[in-house]
Amino acid sequence: MCRRKAAWTTELVTPPLSYLQGASPATLAQVQALLAERRLGALLRERYPEPHALRSDRLLYGYVAELKARHLKSTPPLAKAVYDQRLHIVRNALGTHTTVSRVQGTRLQSKREIRIASLFKEAPAAFLRMIVVHELAHLREREHDKAFYALCTHMEPDYPQLEFDTRLWLTALEVEGPSAAHVAR
Ligand SMILES: [Zn+2]
Repeated sequence: MCRRKAAWTTELVTPPLSYLQGASPATLAQVQALLAERRLGALLRERYPEPHALRSDRLLYGYVAELKARHLKSTPPLAKAVYDQRLHIVRNALGTHTTVSRVQGTRLQSKREIRIASLFKEAPAAFLRMIVVHELAHLREREHDKAFYALCTHMEPDYPQLEFDTRLWLTALEVEGPSAAHVAR
């Protein structure tokens, strides 16, 4: 689950594009070209210059609870929402969902919690919003299916674009390093 240090080095010939599975060959070629010039992070910073102020678990919880109250009233209350340092890579958050295995059986309601990878503290505000919307949608829809994405887009109309750009940002973070991808605070 932990990112290998080597991933930060510039020695990688083929950048890891695992966050971009499903993207068209043309898009991937474009991304490769930007990464080769180490311009992907800078491009995203230009497009999403706005940082967020949700630096603590308390502030994160307030933000999550407010969104939930607005869009998912009928789901059971959240036990907590926290930043998790162990979620170093967010492949979990965006690919296979980890909460599912934790919320089985009789403890279904008491164990509802949202964990956001700590690296999102340095993300543009729009990307934190995307990941929170994603995790909230899992309170109702387990799978990444049509209903799931419909719910995400209901909560955040720009969701599909934001998810794609978040994947680009994670790619930039991994290939170009934190200084290229983090937004200034
Ligand atoms: Zn998911």
